[in-house]
Amino acid sequence: AKGAGGARWELFDVDRNQQELARYALSAAIPAALERGEFYLDYQPLTSLRDGSVVGAEALVRWRHPELGELRPDRFIGLAEETGLIVPLGGWVLADAAREAEAWPTGGRPRAPFVSVNLAVRQVHGPGLVRQVRDLLEDTGLPPERLQLEITESAMMSTTGEPVRALRTLADAGVRIAIDDFGTGYSNLAYLRDLPVTELKFAGNFVAGLRGSPNDPSSRTDERILASLVSLAHALDLTVTAEGVETAAQAERLRAIGCDAAQGWHFGRPGPSGQILDLLHRERQP
Ligand code: C2E
Ligand code: CA
Ligand code: CA
Repeated sequence: AKGAGGARWELFDVDRNQQELARYALSAAIPAALERGEFYLDYQPLTSLRDGSVVGAEALVRWRHPELGELRPDRFIGLAEETGLIVPLGGWVLADAAREAEAWPTGGRPRAPFVSVNLAVRQVHGPGLVRQVRDLLEDTGLPPERLQLEITESAMMSTTGEPVRALRTLADAGVRIAIDDFGTGYSNLAYLRDLPVTELKFAGNFVAGLRGSPNDPSSRTDERILASLVSLAHALDLTVTAEGVETAAQAERLRAIGCDAAQGWHFGRPGPSGQILDLLHRERQP
């Protein structure tokens, strides 16, 4: 029995190695895939909880792989970060999103819609970010306030000196900076004061806490925590977007708490750029 157990573990390890190899092969294929145009972006609406208008959209990368089919970012972003290939891939994402957003209709609404792009830690820490974003805005003609960069909390925490300066330069130029997945990592809020941030995106697990009935005590506690974080964010002049909003009930409670905007299946799934364009056109007032 012991021998058999040992053999099983060996098989398991071989399996794991195969998986690792497959992941690396996938990552190594990124440059050629970029050249062949296998990546594309889906857009998910960001909706105002005040008036229901679309304030912007988040760009989410996908890979149309010739053999493996449609790949979600979770399959390749992590490894692209490890290998550094996120830098060219992320550069392509930024450029494509900016090109797309430049063509969105801006008339008949209080604020022109912005496109929100995820930045990997490596991109924030790399030397060329300011130049890259500046060139991009110049080339596409997209006004800086119509671009938002999403950075995760952990990326910001490990950030000292140069990356913060880079983000401040971009923020001073009018680019919006959001903390993505807020509430999943460090819960020290003092650092927000020193960072050039304009928005907090509350992670879906916060919102999931609102699922319970209003009389459920643990759900009430979640709601109180959320409400105080929202007022803190507002005191720091930050806007708040809630992610992962799946039901009308969640949206209503988030609105009551004071969240500014929401993103999630209740308002719209990620889809091709034409879907956002339709939404924006439909809203347009004469
Ligand atoms: P994220 O930035 O937190 O993006 C939101 C994810 O939640 C998306 O998954 C979206 O499809 C999903 N989502 C949206 N609404 C709902 C909802 O109501 N319920 C649930 N359960 N999920 C919802 P997706 O597109 O698979 O992206 C996964 C992650 O991949 C993103 O998480 C982001 O961290 C990363 N990612 C995507 N595109 C890029 C990119 O261009 N660059 C980098 N560095 N990372 C990216
Ligand atoms: Ca994001
Ligand atoms: Ca997020």
